[in-house]
Amino acid sequence: MSQHSYRYLGPFMAIDLPMREVNSWITCCVNPSCSRRGMQVYASAFCSGCGNAMGKLESSRRQRVVIDHCAEFAERVTPAFRYSRDDGVQVYLPNDYDSLCPASLNERRESEGDGQRYHPLSGHEAGRETTWFLTSFAAQVERAKALVGEDRVHVQWGLVEYIT
Ligand SMILES: [Zn+2]
Repeated sequence: MSQHSYRYLGPFMAIDLPMREVNSWITCCVNPSCSRRGMQVYASAFCSGCGNAMGKLESSRRQRVVIDHCAEFAERVTPAFRYSRDDGVQVYLPNDYDSLCPASLNERRESEGDGQRYHPLSGHEAGRETTWFLTSFAAQVERAKALVGEDRVHVQWGLVEYIT
């Protein structure tokens, strides 16, 4: 398997994904006086501790929220990282460069791969590109805020490095 590393410079949405309790049913001993009560088993029909038949108990664990970007963002933005980082941050890049996209960002995209290039940038371009993201992807930013909370969604401008 070969991996490619990529660099993206421009506006993006960073989402700090929260942890949530997820409930599921596990197969385990349900005997209240057994020390193995509630310990998940996969292959045996009877408890090795007390000999009772296995039952089902509801168990909860904390798990990082996963956002279905196809359903929630209509694929207008796509995740840069295959999985969220260990700190829970997932970064979403533009996937729809509409006619309002600033020339500075389009030029960088179109010259990708030709090997020799430079792009002088200032805060002016960064500001225009960030405004474009906030405007063109307003619905996706609002959806993200509704899903995880306003304080966990940040539209920023900068460098994103990722592998695929
Ligand atoms: Zn038992």
